[in-house]
Amino acid sequence: MTTYTPMMQQYLLVKQDYKDAFLFYRLGDFYELFFDDAIKASQLLEITLTARSGNTDNPIPMCGVPHHSAQGYIETLVSKGFKVAVCEQTEDPKHAKGVVKREVVQVITPGTITEGKALDGKSNHFIAAAESNENDEMVFAYLDVSTGEANCSVIEGSAKQLIQQVQAYAIKELIVNEQLQLLLADYAEAGGIVLSLETEEMDPVKANQYVAHLPVQLQGVAKRLLQYVERTQMRSLSHIQPFTYTEAHNFLRIDTNSKRNLELIQSIRGGDSKGTLLWLLDETVTAMGGRKLKQWMHQPLAKKNAIEARQAIVTELLEDFFLRDELMSLLKNVYDLERLAGRVAFGSVGGRDLAQLRESLRQVPMIQQKLVNSGLEKCTALGQKLDVCADIEQLLAEAITDQPPISIKEGDVIRDGYNAQLDEYRDASRNGKDWIAQLEQKERELTGIKNLKIGYNRVFGYYIEITKSHLNNTDLARFERKQTLANAERFITEELKEKEALILNAEEQSLALEYDLFVALREQLKGYIPRVQALAAQISELDVLMSFAMVTDKYRFTKPVFHDGRALKIIEGRHPVVEKMLNKQSYVPNDCVLTNDKNMMLITGPNMSGKSTYMRQVALIVVLAQMGCYVPADEAILPITDQIFTRIGAADDLAAGQSTFMVEMLESQHAITHATKNSLLLFDEIGRGTSTYDGMSLAQAMMEYIHDEIGANTLFSTHYHELTDLENELSRLQNVHVSATEQDGRVVFLHKVKKGAADKSYGVHVAELAEMPETILQRARVLLEQFEAANEEKPQAINYKQEPPQNPQMPEQVMENDQQLSLFTIEEESAIAPEQQEVLDALAKLNVMGTTPMQAMTLLYELQQKLLGNQ
Ligand code: ADP
Repeated sequence: MTTYTPMMQQYLLVKQDYKDAFLFYRLGDFYELFFDDAIKASQLLEITLTARSGNTDNPIPMCGVPHHSAQGYIETLVSKGFKVAVCEQTEDPKHAKGVVKREVVQVITPGTITEGKALDGKSNHFIAAAESNENDEMVFAYLDVSTGEANCSVIEGSAKQLIQQVQAYAIKELIVNEQLQLLLADYAEAGGIVLSLETEEMDPVKANQYVAHLPVQLQGVAKRLLQYVERTQMRSLSHIQPFTYTEAHNFLRIDTNSKRNLELIQSIRGGDSKGTLLWLLDETVTAMGGRKLKQWMHQPLAKKNAIEARQAIVTELLEDFFLRDELMSLLKNVYDLERLAGRVAFGSVGGRDLAQLRESLRQVPMIQQKLVNSGLEKCTALGQKLDVCADIEQLLAEAITDQPPISIKEGDVIRDGYNAQLDEYRDASRNGKDWIAQLEQKERELTGIKNLKIGYNRVFGYYIEITKSHLNNTDLARFERKQTLANAERFITEELKEKEALILNAEEQSLALEYDLFVALREQLKGYIPRVQALAAQISELDVLMSFAMVTDKYRFTKPVFHDGRALKIIEGRHPVVEKMLNKQSYVPNDCVLTNDKNMMLITGPNMSGKSTYMRQVALIVVLAQMGCYVPADEAILPITDQIFTRIGAADDLAAGQSTFMVEMLESQHAITHATKNSLLLFDEIGRGTSTYDGMSLAQAMMEYIHDEIGANTLFSTHYHELTDLENELSRLQNVHVSATEQDGRVVFLHKVKKGAADKSYGVHVAELAEMPETILQRARVLLEQFEAANEEKPQAINYKQEPPQNPQMPEQVMENDQQLSLFTIEEESAIAPEQQEVLDALAKLNVMGTTPMQAMTLLYELQQKLLGNQ
C-alpha cells in the first residue's frame, strides 16, 4: 500500500471535497497541482509537467504557477469552462507544528468569477439556477456576483426554452439538482454551458433577507443558487440584493427566438452586437448604464404609466442640450459603482478602487445640482431623489490618499491625519530621514569630502559612502567599515545604527497599522453597500435615459403615444438599424396602420423588396416605445403590446439537428399557442420550407386561426400570391405590397409599401441582379411564360370556411401535368446542352446537409465554370 508523505495526505484529503475543480494547492510562493489535475492543467496552461516523489515508488505528476501570477492562469482555466479551488496556508508556517494548515478559501467557477477578462463592463455576468415546477414550467433564478443584482422568473416551456433563456443572458454556469442535471446534460454540452450540481438550499434563516418576499414556488430555486454561491465563494455576500421578481404581465415578453430574429441584442449571424438594436441605442457612458440598457431591452415595459414616466424624462432631456452635455461629462467620471460595491463586500477592494469610488461620489452632488437647477419638473424630482452619499465621500476623502497604489501592503494608502498613531509612526520615520539628511551635511563639513553621501540598501541598511580617492585623507577612527566596493568604501557609525533601528521600526509599524486601518475601513464600508447600490441604480437609469435622448436627437425619432385600444398607427416609420447601415443611400419610410377592423396585413412583393425589413421595423418601433424611448417614425400611436412573436428569416438551428421547416413550424406553434389578442405576430414567408401546396395550406389555415381565435395584430408576408384572395374572406385582413418596377427590363425596388396585392413576382429579375448565368435566366423566362400560360392549373386559395371539393385534383397530379408540360417544351424550345444537364444532375445529387460551406463554394465555382464552358 502506498503511504504518502503527511503533506500529500493533506492534499488528498482536501482534494476529495473538490473533485470537479482544479485544486491550486499553496506551497510557499507557488500554487502546485498534482496527479490528473497536473497532467490536464499542464496541457491547458502550457506549463511544464514535473514530478514529486511524495514517498511513493511512482513519482506524482506535478506542475505549478507562481502565486503572484496565478490570477491569469485561473482566468484561463475558468474561461475554458473549468473550476479552480484555491487552497491557501491558513497558519503562519513559523508557528506550525507538522504540516502547515491549509484550507480552500474560494472556488472560482465560470459563473462566479468576479475579476479579469471574463467580465465585460457593459454586460452582466450572471450565474443561474433552475428547477422544474409542478406545472411543468421552469423556475429560474439568476444573480450577478460582481454587482449583487438578483432576479427570478418563471419560464413557460421545457428544457429547450430554458437553455435558450440561459443563452440569451449569456450565462456560463447553471446550477441544477440531480433530476435536471440528467435532463439538461446534452443541451448544456451543445450550448457550452457548465452544469453544476447543488444538492442543498441555503439555510432559511440566512436566506430570508433575499427570498422571503418571493412567491413560494420561486424561493427554493433562489435558495439553491445562494447556497452554491456561498459554498464556493466562502465570503461575505452582503452585496447580494434581495431577488426581484416582477410578474410577467408587467413586461413586454419577447421569446428568445424573436429577440434573435429581431436582432435586439445579438445579430443573427454571430454573437457580436454590431447591427443590433442595442448597438444603435447604446450611447451610455457608464458600464452600469450599459448593463441597464441591456436589461431594459430584455424586458421592455407593459404598463402605460411606467413607460410614460421614462418618456417624460427623455422629453425633458431633449429640451435642454446643454444640460445633457454637462450631465454627460459628469457621468463619464462615474466608475462602476455596482462592481466596486461588490469588491467591497468580497474584501477584494484595493486603494485605487476606493479612490475611484470617491471620484465617482464627487460627481453626484454636481449631477444633483444640474438636475435640480434645470427648471424641468421631472429632472428636478430625479435630482432630489438622489442620495449623494456625502458621508461616504467624506470618509474616503479623509482616509485615502489622492493617488493610492494598487497594493495595500506598501503604504501610501491612508492619508495623514486619519489616525494619530499612524501619524506618530510616520513622523518618527520622516524625522529620522530628516536627521539623516542633516547628518550627511554635517559629515561633509567635518570631513571636507563634498561627494560623501549617505545611502540605504536592504542588506546593509544605512551607510556612509566615501570614494577611494578620499580615503587616505580622512580620519576613519569614528567609522566602522561595512562594505567595500570597486571605487568606494561604506561605513556606519553608532549614531547612524541607532537612528536606523528607529526609522525601520517606525516604518514597519506604520505599514502594518496602515494595512489594519485599510481592512477596518473596508469593513466599515460594507455597511454602506446598499446605499451605493441604490445610487448606482439611479445613476444607471439616468445614463440610459440620456442615451435615449441622444439617439432620439441623432436619428430624428418621435415620441410615441399610447392608447388603451388595439389599433396601431405608424406614419413614415423606419428600421433604424437598416437606415444607419445604408449610409448615404436614403431609407424609404413606410406607414403601418392596423385598425380594430383591419388588424391583419398580408404583405406581398418580390424577394429583396423589403418585406422582412418592414415587418421588423414595426416590431422594433413597438420594442423601443415600450422601453420608454422615442421611435423612428414621424408619428406613432400604439397599443400596449403584451408579447411579440416572430417567425422571420432562415435562422436554421442546424446545430441542434433541426431543419429549416421544423424550426419554422416550432416557432409558429409557439406563437400560436401563446399569443393573445394583445400580442404582435410577425410571420415572414410562412410555409416556404415545404412544397407549394403544403406550405400554402398551412399558411392559410394559420391565418384563419389567428383571425378567428386569437385576433392579435398580425403581419404576414408571403410569396404565395394566391393567398391575397383571402382578403375577400377574412374581414380583418388587408393586402399590401412592397412595390417594385421594371426599368429597361431590370427590376428596381422602390421599398414603398402600398395598398393591395403585388401583381408580379420578379423572381427572375432578382436572379438577374444576382448575376445568375444568362443561360439559366433565359431558360427560367421561358418556363415562367409556360407556367403563366397554363394559368388554370395554378393553385388558388380555397374559399374560407368552405370544404375543399370532394374530388380535388391531387397536388401530385398537378405536379405531373406541370412536369409533362416542362418536359415537352424542353424538346421543342431549346434542348439542354449536355454540360448544363451535368450541372443539373450534380445539383440534384448533392447532399446539402453533408456539405460544408467551403465545399459548397468550391462546387458552385466548378459548376459555374462548366456552364461558362471553361471546363
Ligand atoms: P424581403 O424580405 O422582401 O426579401 P428585405 O426586407 O430582406 O427583403 O430587404 C432587402 C434589402 O432591401 C435590405 O437589406 C435593405 O438593404 C433594403 N431595404 C429594405 N427596406 C428598405 C427601405 N424601406 N428603404 C431602403 N432600403 C430598404
